[in-house]
Amino acid sequence: MHCPFCGTHDTKVTDSRLVAEGDQVRRRRQCAECGERFTTYETAELVMPRVVKSDGSRESFDEQKMRAGMARALEKRPVSVESFEAAVERIRQRLRARGEREVEAREVGEEVMGTLQRLDHVAYIRFASVYRRFQDLDEFRAEIDRLSQEPTLSSGDEDNPR
Ligand SMILES: [Zn+2]
Repeated sequence: MHCPFCGTHDTKVTDSRLVAEGDQVRRRRQCAECGERFTTYETAELVMPRVVKSDGSRESFDEQKMRAGMARALEKRPVSVESFEAAVERIRQRLRARGEREVEAREVGEEVMGTLQRLDHVAYIRFASVYRRFQDLDEFRAEIDRLSQEPTLSSGDEDNPR
């Protein structure tokens, strides 16, 4: 971080603490050159990309809608609230990490599917069958066969022994 007083590149952090209930980091810095002190605040970038629908219209990212779809797929599945919240956060992070201002609705769906696939195969199949509208039973079976080769968190997790 450059010193705002003299512009030198070399400033050091003298103190670092969480503020705003942990949503922010406040850092005290001191310039090695001129000795001036200043403070910086670091906050997570919370701006989600806008969603481009298949008809080309744009809408803001609707987390409630995404949660509702995931919750429906996970109904009565052995997945804890913590795992669900972690999955939601993971999708949010992955979408933000693209660094794009806009993301296609299809890509949001793919992220949800990819995350559910790791979390719980049944939930994944439920979600994918609605989302992808499997063309026929063979396609559906092929997907289930493919999945049965892969472990998930809910099948391999210590909290849910088989
Ligand atoms: Zn300075």
